[in-house]
Amino acid sequence: MVHFVGAGPGAPDLITVRGAALLREADVVIYAGSLVNPQLLSDCKPGCALHNSAGMTLPEVLAVMERAEAAGKTTVRLHTGDPSLYGALREQLDALEERGIAYDVTPGVSSLFGAAAALNAELTLPGVSQSLIVTRLAGRTDVPQGEALRDFARHGTSMALFLSAGLLERVREELLAGGCAPDTPAALVYRATWPDEKTVRCTVDTLAAAGAAAGIRKTALVLVGGFLGAPYEKSRLYDPSFTTGYRRGGA
Ligand code: SAH
Repeated sequence: MVHFVGAGPGAPDLITVRGAALLREADVVIYAGSLVNPQLLSDCKPGCALHNSAGMTLPEVLAVMERAEAAGKTTVRLHTGDPSLYGALREQLDALEERGIAYDVTPGVSSLFGAAAALNAELTLPGVSQSLIVTRLAGRTDVPQGEALRDFARHGTSMALFLSAGLLERVREELLAGGCAPDTPAALVYRATWPDEKTVRCTVDTLAAAGAAAGIRKTALVLVGGFLGAPYEKSRLYDPSFTTGYRRGGA
């Protein structure tokens, strides 16, 4: 059996209880060494075979899984954050399906949520934004037509950009081309939840300059939107005059 597990954003105590248990029981662990905190591996059982996928190809990863399966062993494939976001998950699941190898997926805390927490931010703020666009700038990996950053920028909603921290000048240009006001609040969060986490608040217009000044080029998220700014409305859920399924509001 192969367990795909989200490791969380970095802090070792941000893996789920289920993920940690699977990791403790694994005979073989294949971990994304560039972003997974190695401290998580210290609880693996003695003799557990550790493979860092940073230097491996997909066929090599699959070969490790196949060998483990043939020997009746349990494998954990440890992905950074949540495996469903930019995790190259599907190609592994499909390959296991073809080989008749059983698997399951345990979610993780995405770095997106690690970053929001680092900023004490609410991504869906009443009166400001009730939607979140999770995307990336086209780089060496293309994005499909209709998913250009400038097209998303037109919505004026909360946005989280993965894999784009090395391209901040282009991020700025795309956001402005899509009609974002230059003073739209923005933030960079570097290595959210790690001991060397850095947060930088800026605007769309100052994104590239702020990133350069802080020396941030990778392992960072770009967050954009009015949710990072001052004005908002209070939630109706907790409004004393608002009746909900659980509470009758006063006059
Ligand atoms: N599945 C992961 C994302 C993997 S893609 C998740 O859910 O978080 C790798 C990108 O994620 C990086 O380029 C960076 O944009 C972001 N990232 C991963 N860990 C991060 C962290 N601790 N802080 C900020 N960004 C992070």
